[in-house]
Amino acid sequence: MNLATTIHMLQGRGFRMTTVRRFLLQTFKDTKAPLSANDLIGILKKAHLECNRTTVYRELTFLVEQTLLRAVDFGDGAKRYELAGGEHHHHFICSNCKAVSDVNLKNDLEQQERILEKILGATIESHSLEFFGICKNCGTK
Ligand SMILES: [Zn+2]
Ligand SMILES: [Zn+2]
Repeated sequence: MNLATTIHMLQGRGFRMTTVRRFLLQTFKDTKAPLSANDLIGILKKAHLECNRTTVYRELTFLVEQTLLRAVDFGDGAKRYELAGGEHHHHFICSNCKAVSDVNLKNDLEQQERILEKILGATIESHSLEFFGICKNCGTK
């Protein structure tokens, strides 16, 4: 979905399009890696947009509720966000420099999900999986 379509959809749902909201959506579209609230506060500051911490958190919650963003958790206490609705993928996070790359798995985990469903007698609807290690840049130092 492009930015104009996203904005149109939000307005259609009766929501206002503020400068900050538009800027955040644009930032997520332009950025490959998931972003934390702190990352965004830094980016807003650099763009000379006045926005306090509470507003950023409120915007993030709002955009998750509108299923435009998805929260990703790398287990380090900082919640990060990325655009929802993209192709299903995983992440690789460098434990040293914290660089994040998107990872696609061949055949993904469908077979494992079917096996788990049998074991658990449950229906698995989704999964999230992150890989941690040392990236190419950090490994060759
Ligand atoms: Zn690294
Ligand atoms: Zn997967």
